Parts: sequence; C-alpha cells; structure tokens
Amino acid sequence: MARVAIVTGGIRGIGEAISVSLHEAGYKVIANYASHDERAKAFSAKTGIAVSKWDVGDFTACQEKVASLSKEHGPIDILVNNAGITRDAPLHKMGYDAWDDVLRVNLSSVFNMSRAVINSMRERGFGRMVNIGSINGQAGQFGQVNYAAAKAGMVGFTKSLALETASKGITVNAIAPGYIDTEMVQSVEQSILSKIIARIPVGRLGHTQEIARAVRFLVSDDAAFITGSTLTINGGQYMA
Ligand code: NDP
Repeated sequence: MARVAIVTGGIRGIGEAISVSLHEAGYKVIANYASHDERAKAFSAKTGIAVSKWDVGDFTACQEKVASLSKEHGPIDILVNNAGITRDAPLHKMGYDAWDDVLRVNLSSVFNMSRAVINSMRERGFGRMVNIGSINGQAGQFGQVNYAAAKAGMVGFTKSLALETASKGITVNAIAPGYIDTEMVQSVEQSILSKIIARIPVGRLGHTQEIARAVRFLVSDDAAFITGSTLTINGGQYMA
C-alpha cells in the first residue's frame, strides 16, 4: 500500500514541487495550505493530489486534522514541515506580532505537526520527517531575527527528535535551502535580487525541484541511516 505523506504549505512554491515529486514517486500525498482556496482547488484538479486547509500554527487544528486525514487516507508515514512565512524588519522596528507570527508558523508548527504524527509512527515502527529550514537560519540575515531564530530553532528540534526516534525506525532531517526561485524570492526588489544572485557561486537561484528531489531521497528507504542531519542546498553560498 502506498505510504501517506503530508506536505505543509504544499500547494505552491517549494511545497508544490515536493508534493508533486512525492506524488510522482507513488506516495499518497495530502498538500496542506492556509488561505489560497482557488489555487488549492486548481492545484488539486491539475495534479490529482488531495488538498486540506488548516493553520499549522494552531495546535488543536493540527491534532484534529491529522486524526481525520489518517482516518480518511491511512496513518501518516511521512511529514514534510514546509509551510513558512516572513515578516521582515530590523529588530528596532519589529513589532511583537511580526515576531510571534513567524515563530508560530515557522517553528511552533513543527512541534504541532510532529506531535500529531509521532505516536502513530512510533507504534508502527516507521516514519520520515523533513523540516524545511533556511540558509538564513544558518548564516543570519539583516531584518530577519524572527525568521532566522525560527529556522535555527528547527535545527535543534530536528537533532533532538532524531535522537528520541532513531531506535523506532523514524528519521528526522532538515534541509536548509538557499535562495530558490519562488514567489517569496520574486517579491524581493529586483536590485536586491541581483545582488543576492551575485553572491551565489553557482550563479543562479535554485529551482524548487532541486529541493523536492532531496526530500524525495530523505523520505525513501535508501536514506534510513540518515537522521538528525541538515542538508544545505544553496549553490555554494554558505557552507555550513
Ligand atoms: P511560499 O510563500 O511560496 O508558500 C508558502 C506555503 O506555506 C503556502 O502554500 C502557504 O499557504 C503555506 N502557509 C503559510 N502559512 C501557513 C499556515 N499558517 N498554515 C498552513 N500553511 C501555511 O513559500 P516558499 O515555497 O518560498 O517557501 C517554502 C519553505 O521554504 C518555507 O518554510 C520557507 O521559509 C523556506 N525557504 C524558502 C526559500 C526560498 O528561496 N523561497 C529559501 C529558504 C527557505 P497558502 O498557499 O494558502 O498561502
């Protein structure tokens, strides 16, 4: 029977590429999203991938959704914590909401979703979790104390949970993408984007499929001995 995967923020950007790649590999994929109903509908119609709307920052919603999706599709074997947002400002101008929103959606979500799937994975002796971090959580970034803290926190979470689950057939890894050609990056002002690209040794932005292929490998049986690691995929921009 096909393994069941949840990809948070799985209908556009990097998440879309991950959902499609896992679907093509034969997994039963559920792509979560937050607000773009029309986009989700079109994505599902085009790909045949199930979509489901909830806020990954809401602990109760995550527990309830995972329970109902498990009943409908089968227990969750694979969790890709991909949903993320930015609310940039230098600290001296950052309001509490920008801090709280980013920590809630980018980091508390990882607790919320992992907590929802962990017991079933432990009982069944199999699980794969991949957390999508960021180069900015490794290197730091001007205007992103909130985002960098959340993404760096995700790495500590990954290592700790990997230790807790290693003997249970569960692997937990992170991927730290560099600058990838998505709406999040396209929204950056062109003059700043040119400067960013000039700092990437490979000389271009990454493609969403380049992250998706790494996720596909990490969730496969071939990657059973890889746990607690952070895979850096950034065109050589920062060598962690
Ligand atoms: P996008 O902005 O293109 O997509 C984000 C996705 O997350 C959307 O599907 C969105 O749903 C969903 N989402 C946002 N908030 C919530 C929420 N509260 N609950 C559920 N879903 C939510 O992001 P990217 O593809 O650019 O980024 C994906 C991940 O990769 C993020 O974690 C990001 O931090 C990380 N990353 C991205 C880089 C890049 O260059 N793009 C570089 C490094 C890391 P909806 O569609 O409904 O809005």
